[in-house]
Order: sequence, then C-alpha cells, then structure tokens
Amino acid sequence: MSRLIDELRKLPGIGTKSAQRLAFHVLRASDADARALARAVLELREKLRLCSVCNNITDVDPCGYCTSAVRDQHVVCVIEEPTNIATIEKTRSYNGVYHVLHGTLSPIGGVGPEQLRIASLLARLGTAAEGDGVRAVREVILATSPTTEGEATAAYLAGEIRRVAPEMRVTRIATGVPAGSDIEYADEVTMTRAMEGRREF
Ligand SMILES: [Zn+2]
Repeated sequence: MSRLIDELRKLPGIGTKSAQRLAFHVLRASDADARALARAVLELREKLRLCSVCNNITDVDPCGYCTSAVRDQHVVCVIEEPTNIATIEKTRSYNGVYHVLHGTLSPIGGVGPEQLRIASLLARLGTAAEGDGVRAVREVILATSPTTEGEATAAYLAGEIRRVAPEMRVTRIATGVPAGSDIEYADEVTMTRAMEGRREF
C-alpha cells in the first residue's frame, strides 16, 4: 500500500491525501479494473514513444505526420503539448507538420531551454538551412499559447531561430486566441482565425 501511495504521489497534482484515496480505490476495485489500470500503464510505456523528429506521441517512429507525403513538410508549427495537435487539426486549415516543445519556458517553475525540446527544433531548422531540399523548412509558425510563458517562449524561439537559420520565415499565430488563455481551449473558429491571421514575428 505505501509503495503504491509513494508512486502515485509522484504524479502531477497528486498530494499525499489524493494518493491515499486513489490507492484505497484501487484496493476496493474489482480485480479486472485493477489489472486493466496496471496493463494500461505498462502498455503506454511499451508501445508509445516520442517521435524522434517532432516529439509527438506515436507508436511508430518517425510519426505519421513526419512521414506523410500529403502534408507540407516545409512548414513547421511549434506547439507546447501533443494535445495541441488535435486543436489545430480540427481547424482543417493547416496541412504542415509539427514540433512539440513539451512545455513552456518558466523561470519560476525552473523550466529553462534545456528542459524543452528546443535543441532538436534548431537542429531540424539548421539542417534545413544547409539545403536538405526535400525537408527544407521555409516557415516556422510559433503557436504557443498567448500566456506570459507562451509569449516569452515564442520570443526566445524567434531569436534562436534567427541565429541558426537567418533566412527562415518566422510567424506568430494571431491573438484570435484570447490573451492569457491556453490554445488547448480554443474553439475551431478561433483557432482557424489565429492560424490564418498569423504575422511575421
Ligand atoms: Zn513526428
């Protein structure tokens, strides 16, 4: 019991009280439910990984977006979390590829550039600038949320991109997404406007 509580406490947003409540819930659950939970955790680790190109969650590496022949491999949309892909996909107005940062810069939260997938983004763009024709990226759309952290992250990325690929077109999504809110909660129309109204950074 204490082993399970210790493991649950490591999850984000779960304190000791919640961990105890969850552990007791598992204890009282049916055998089938407890096993299904354990199996889901194991299979997540065994079958899913991060795409070695864009860091999206995938069961094949590189992922379907990165290997797609019908998507525009010259446009890369930079987002905070894998879940943001669904928000942008449902607009049906974007046909490029993605790069998932897995967070935003947050000096208070102790998240610096090393904690995010920034080096792999710059490597991806740097190689493109050197003339790998097929995958050469021509535009990077910074689609981090219009929150303080999201804006700071976009500004930092724009500077770094200029450094490794001075010719790159760098754009920022329009503020159709309400300032201060997470793009995860943007509806289809808002997100479509934000993408279409993007401006040079
Ligand atoms: Zn990928």
